[in-house]
Order: sequence, then C-alpha cells, then structure tokens
Amino acid sequence: MESFVYSATPGRVIFGSGTLQKLPEETERLNISAPLLLSTPRQVHLAERVKEVLNGKVAGIFTEATMHTPTNVTEKALQYAQDTKADAVISIGGGSTVGLGKAISIRTGLSHICVPTTYAGSEMTPILGETADKVKKTRSDPKILPGTVIYDVDLTMTLPVATSATSGVNAIAHAVEALYARNSNPITNLLAIEGTKALASSLPEIVENPSSSSARSQALYGAWLCGTCLGSVGMSIHHKLCHTLGGSFNLPHADTHTAVLPHAISYNAPRIPEAMKKLAEALPESNGDAIHGLNVLLLKLKVKRGLKDFGMKEEDIDKAADIAVSNPYWNPREIERAPIRELIRRVWAGEPAR
Ligand code: NAD
Repeated sequence: MESFVYSATPGRVIFGSGTLQKLPEETERLNISAPLLLSTPRQVHLAERVKEVLNGKVAGIFTEATMHTPTNVTEKALQYAQDTKADAVISIGGGSTVGLGKAISIRTGLSHICVPTTYAGSEMTPILGETADKVKKTRSDPKILPGTVIYDVDLTMTLPVATSATSGVNAIAHAVEALYARNSNPITNLLAIEGTKALASSLPEIVENPSSSSARSQALYGAWLCGTCLGSVGMSIHHKLCHTLGGSFNLPHADTHTAVLPHAISYNAPRIPEAMKKLAEALPESNGDAIHGLNVLLLKLKVKRGLKDFGMKEEDIDKAADIAVSNPYWNPREIERAPIRELIRRVWAGEPAR
C-alpha cells in the first residue's frame, strides 16, 4: 500500500428518523440559550417547527437564505443576529441555508448546528463559497465546519423528486472527485464507494416512490458519506466548473453538477484508470464502464442534461471557459482551454458525454 495522510474532520453527527427531537439536548449540551434559526423563504414552516421543538427559546428566525451565499444577504443576517443577541446559529435546509450559517459562524465565532434537508453535503465540509459582484469565491478553514449535524430522514421526505435526483448526483460528484483527488486515501475511497453505492441504488427508488423511507434513509446516509469526502480531500475540474458556472451565471447548483458530471469524468478518464474502475464497480448496470453506468443512472432519474435549459446563453460559453481555466484547481489531466471550452459547449447543449 502507498503511504498516505488522512485528516479526520471533528464534526458530531446524529442520524436517524425523528432526530430533530434531539435538538434541545444538543443546545443544552452546547450551552446555547438564544439561537438564530436560518431558512430559505420556502422552508419557513420548518424553521417554525424547530422553534416549537425548542419551546420558543430562540433569538429569531431569518428566512432569506439564498443560493451561492451572496454576501449582501449575509450582511443583513449578521445585523439581525446582532440585534437579537443570538448566541448560536441553527441552519435548517439545503446547502444554501447551511452556507449562510457558515458565513455567520466564521464572521462571529458563534457555534453552528446544521439540520440538512437535501443531499448537497455542505454540512460536512470546512468550505464556504460566497458570491459578490457575480464572482463566487471559496475558502476553507477548520472553523467553518459546523459543530453538530442532525440528519433527520423525516425532513427529507418533502424534497421534490427532481431536486432529490439532482441533489443526490451532486453528492455523487463529491465522491467521484475524491476517488481521483491528489490527496485521496483508502479511508475516503471507502466512504466514496459506499456513498455512491447507497445513492445510486436509492435515488431511482425515490424517483419511483418518493415516500419510501428506506430509500430516503439510504440516500441521506450516502449524502453524509459523500459530503465527508468533499470535506476531507481536494476537488478538481468538476467542482471548479460547477462553481464557475453556478456563481457567474446564477445557474442552479445541483442541476449544474448533474449536467457537468459525466463530461468532467470523461475529460479526466484517460488519466484516472483506477478511479474509473472503482466508480464502475459502485454504479449498477455499468458493465465495467463508469460513464455508461452514470448515463444509465441519469436516464433513470429523468434529469435535464443541458445548461441552456437553465437559462445559460450560448455567448456565455467563452466567458465560462476563460474563468474555468483561470486559477485552476489541481486536476489529474492538464487544464487546456480548447477542450474545456468544448466540454462546456457540450454541457450547454445537453449532448451526451463521450
Ligand atoms: P438549496 O439549499 O438552495 O435548496 C433548494 C431549494 O429546495 C430551496 O428553496 C430549499 O428551501 C428547498 N428545500 C431544501 N430541502 C427541502 C426539503 N426537504 N423539502 C422541500 N424543499 C426543500 O440547494 P442545495 O442544492 O442543497 O444547496 C446549494 C448551495 O449549497 C449552493 O450555494 C452550493 O454552492 C452550496 N454547497 C456548498 C458546499 C460546501 O461544502 N461549501 C457543498 C455543497 C453545496
């Protein structure tokens, strides 16, 4: 076995059905008396439910969490946290809400409890992506990692089928890039393979039967493992492209990941034979070909494949290629503008990966 470095992340995870009820124990354990609850406008009812679980003992509810964590929203939430004398933040929702919780926590030092309701995985990472002036910048700091994560499968039952599918593929993308990360190691490989298997088997079941609690449970478990991969090792071209496209052209995060993933893998394939083999083994019906396995999965999930369907304009392809090749992340294959532009064009058009 080759030598490796593995850094475990120190977060605490409470997983199961009905685990939201453990929140009062957790706030007591952490000596929190006036948390600020965070949600998107769509999930206000859930924040209200959390307030009830905490017997009304909250500083307030801020309901304007927005995708790609725009800094102007963070400033507004910070002011509200200060005005209400909040002593912690509790984010309830998907990656957008978790992102706002991280942005407040890193600026104020307040502790952060997450109650994730999608499969995006942000709750397991010390990474924060923020958008200002249409540019998304990412930073990493151990202090960004939330202290406690409460995964309650019951809260994921309402996640619409289409979002469940793309959010699940977003999680798989973390695992895929972990398999070929420069600092990959046997532990994150185990997590990546187990997480991908859990999601690849449960997501088609969720599409057929969204109220299957066993499939929902498997998917959330897979999302946790894949999120841990994202938080443990470096990401490459796939994540760089999705940050570029999402942040610069305001494209929906999970849909963008879903459309880009087969193309990013195909770009790297010649340089990552071992990772391709492992991925093929984790994807059902791959017949030993990871890209084929992924295409079969995406077909079953009935997802959209072209970024033009999400409002990206053809003339933005060149701009996207310029941003994607500037300050590139480490990648197993050299980042060259011409093939990257062609990759983005194919994703834009929704053409299949080759
Ligand atoms: P999201 O948080 O924007 O959620 C999408 C929509 O679904 C929102 O309106 C939300 O309220 C709603 N929703 C969420 N859970 C629901 C549920 N169970 N039932 C019904 N509706 C529900 O989307 P996302 O894909 O989870 O997160 C995307 C954001 O997270 C992006 O900004 C992305 O950059 C960030 N992200 C960050 C990291 C990281 O490590 N920093 C990792 C992954 C994602």
